[in-house]
Amino acid sequence: MTLSFDLTAEGARDALRARAAATEKPSLIGLTRAELGAALVAAGIVPERQAKMRAQQLWHWMYVRGVSDFAHMFNISKDLRAELDKHFTVARPEIVEEQISSDGTRKWLFRFPPRGAGRPVEIETVYIPEEGRGTLCISSQVGCTLTCSFCHTGTQKLVRNLTTEEILAQLLTARDRLGDFPDRDTPDGAMVPAEGRKVSNIVMMGMGEPLYNFEAVKKALLIASDGDGLSLSKRRITLSTSGVVPEIARTGEEIGVMLAISLHATNDDLRDLLVPINKKFPLKELIAACRAYPGLSNARRITFEYVMLKDVNDSLEDAKALVKLLKGIPAKINLIPFNPWPGTNYQCSDWETIEKFADYINNAGYASPIRTPRGRDILAACGQLKSESERMRKVDRLALEAMMIAGHGEA
Ligand code: SAH
Ligand code: SF4
Repeated sequence: MTLSFDLTAEGARDALRARAAATEKPSLIGLTRAELGAALVAAGIVPERQAKMRAQQLWHWMYVRGVSDFAHMFNISKDLRAELDKHFTVARPEIVEEQISSDGTRKWLFRFPPRGAGRPVEIETVYIPEEGRGTLCISSQVGCTLTCSFCHTGTQKLVRNLTTEEILAQLLTARDRLGDFPDRDTPDGAMVPAEGRKVSNIVMMGMGEPLYNFEAVKKALLIASDGDGLSLSKRRITLSTSGVVPEIARTGEEIGVMLAISLHATNDDLRDLLVPINKKFPLKELIAACRAYPGLSNARRITFEYVMLKDVNDSLEDAKALVKLLKGIPAKINLIPFNPWPGTNYQCSDWETIEKFADYINNAGYASPIRTPRGRDILAACGQLKSESERMRKVDRLALEAMMIAGHGEA
């Protein structure tokens, strides 16, 4: 059974509007500790000598306790809480809709303010619970400037980059909704891993090219992995890129998370067609950047994503070429069954073909490479959304959901 909470109904809408209005105050989410202290001083509500201490205090409430209202920060005086509330916000974004699939997969539709883009923007975040872990698939941009021919996001115009706050908001709100902060109860009906953190892994595999929004993504991931805050291990954070070669080394050096590459083809002619950024940064450069990825080892492998497109890239010859291309790189291979979308010319490879391809890859030493699609029933239910809440065209949403759910990582 699929559960769907339409937050556009009843009084929820007004409450959300009030909250959205509150978010017009600058948010303290997404600032570094130093920026946080400086913001408090600049607002004239904290003296310089207290800035560091207050920043630390707020940091703890925001990222360890997951508080989204200054009123709940009990060790801060009432007067200061009132001042904080006058100048800033730590509120969550507007959740337009939350859906829960029978397999426990959850999907949220968030609405963020325009920030110069002309109209509010909507993005989706997907949570995939499995035995022993729960993965959150996060978006980095609204739309994408790249035009991978099998990806529907690629046919949408980029509306804008998400801010650090908006990237983190996806994680914070998911943890709220799953009861994944200390002292919070897990809501009824939430399917989560039996033990440990409910969101144990993040994958930057939602909408957008994270390396085209490098600074915001970097800041968000450094906050997400901060040991005194959200505390996600960098080994449990995977950033997926279509191959923005000049930023790959920086990803390892400055962010230090696991890397996934949307490879999809093993020769330049085909990759130029499927992933056109290949014309700018061809395979030779991409593979060289992978070999040189900082921190790469057998314990920290690069994940290569490979979408299975019927009669395009799915022959045994392709499998052989793939193994040859990756030789010597500590790698995992993820075969993603293609998720068709209205208007696409591609088809998903037959299951037999995928299995044959996978067998070859397996025999070459790569374990369980086929990624099982999750949350299919939420995709089906997507068409049942109320049209007033559906700013994104239905086809766009279906394709995005398919991509996010297929694209969840193995980290
Ligand atoms: N822009 C980044 C992050 C997106 S990750 C990137 O391209 O790496 C999402 C993954 O799903 C990528 O590997 C992407 O190539 C893949 N994908 C896109 N459209 C798909 C589709 N229709 N079916 C299956 N996988 C798809
Ligand atoms: Fe953008 Fe990634 Fe889709 Fe390519 S696959 S269009 S890079 S979101």
